[in-house]
Amino acid sequence: MGIPVPATMLAFDDTDSPDGMCTTYLTALMLEELQDLDLLGWPRLVRLNPNVPWKTRGNAAVCLPLGRGEGKGTLCGRLDRGEVRWHKRGRPADPSELLDRASAVVSRHARFDCHTTNPGVVAANERPSPSLYWRAVREVVRLEDVEAELSAKGAHFRKFKNGRGVIGASAAMAWRPRDRTWEVIAYRVPGRVGTERDIAPESVIEMDRKMRSTFNNYDPENGHVAIAPGSPCPVLFGIRGDSPKDLLAAKDMIRGERPDKWLLYLTNQGTEDHIVRRRISGLRPGDSAKVAGKVSSAPATVPGGHVILRLSDGSEIDAAFYEQSRGMRDAARALLPGDEVVAYGSVRSSPRSLNVEKLQVVRLSSHTRKAANPPCPECGKRMGSMGSGKGYRCKLCGAKAPPSAAEFEPVARSVSVGWYEPPVSSRRHLHKPLRRMSRGNINKI
Ligand SMILES: [Zn+2]
Repeated sequence: MGIPVPATMLAFDDTDSPDGMCTTYLTALMLEELQDLDLLGWPRLVRLNPNVPWKTRGNAAVCLPLGRGEGKGTLCGRLDRGEVRWHKRGRPADPSELLDRASAVVSRHARFDCHTTNPGVVAANERPSPSLYWRAVREVVRLEDVEAELSAKGAHFRKFKNGRGVIGASAAMAWRPRDRTWEVIAYRVPGRVGTERDIAPESVIEMDRKMRSTFNNYDPENGHVAIAPGSPCPVLFGIRGDSPKDLLAAKDMIRGERPDKWLLYLTNQGTEDHIVRRRISGLRPGDSAKVAGKVSSAPATVPGGHVILRLSDGSEIDAAFYEQSRGMRDAARALLPGDEVVAYGSVRSSPRSLNVEKLQVVRLSSHTRKAANPPCPECGKRMGSMGSGKGYRCKLCGAKAPPSAAEFEPVARSVSVGWYEPPVSSRRHLHKPLRRMSRGNINKI
């Protein structure tokens, strides 16, 4: 999955706005514009820290390995320019010229009117170190630090407005996949952008059932087609999965409006790269973390239907399960003190809490309740209670027994050991769905 040849990497980020342009559509426009160049690897769609406060929508950046390819190549898209293929062999391009051309495309199409849109474009023959990616997917990275690294590597970059997009662009360039998935994104005919999308839900359900290597297609809990975005952007749909070959077939199974163009991206979506294992005492606001602990207070349902419980590993934190997480929220509500869990989520500062995005119930503690007074050890008759907490006495022979002598029975539990996750519509881009976790190909490249 590495970049097999010396390619010139072009990356850009933060070109979208909540109500229009999206970074992946700009990729399509970019490749139309750079028709004289070939892809020397998959186009890459990289999601970064979902907790940064200034993200536009999905905090996505794109990286394109470019140059002049040799050989037939592998199909990865169809644009106005025709079929797009990526090549295993080729020669790099000139990064400085590429930066000028790409910046011109960004200038024409980015939504500069949106105050959170601060594009950045980077072109380089040498990539930033992988640690930049890991920091940018898990933490908040400073622009000055990134610029210093780019300069040290002789990379070319351009900042628009405050230029924060340079961070994401560089991080996308720095990504060396440890785990990976693909997404095929189909774009709408320009004249239809902004109108309601015409996608036959039953075709999505059927595709979801037949193509088991895909994920997050349809949300049965909410009756919602999850492959289509809710925003008025140029994306018709995006299908995610573990097999590029299956995705090519999957896109043709969707009935309704025909896509104008499509591209197949290599991505870090569904990999959980943002999650770090932490002790509760080490959690900082903005972290995405997994925490192993014991439930230390009975769950409480608060207004809005959310469930809060206290989690302890020596230190304590409130774990919050939103109403929207449905089945996972119901499982949380059925937990009892002493149950052992691993909670995955993001840390909020006020009130300090862990917003849980995935839950593993590891062990259920045994809870019992008194079923009957004990039998007398002397004569076998059922003993009488001497009052709450005072033990038992036999009415016939006067023998006494402590409270612990009573007969207990286990409390039936309505939650079982296993994994719980929110419905498809409430998952983040980096969330690793259980459907992926059940497969053998995870973490193997
Ligand atoms: Zn007795």
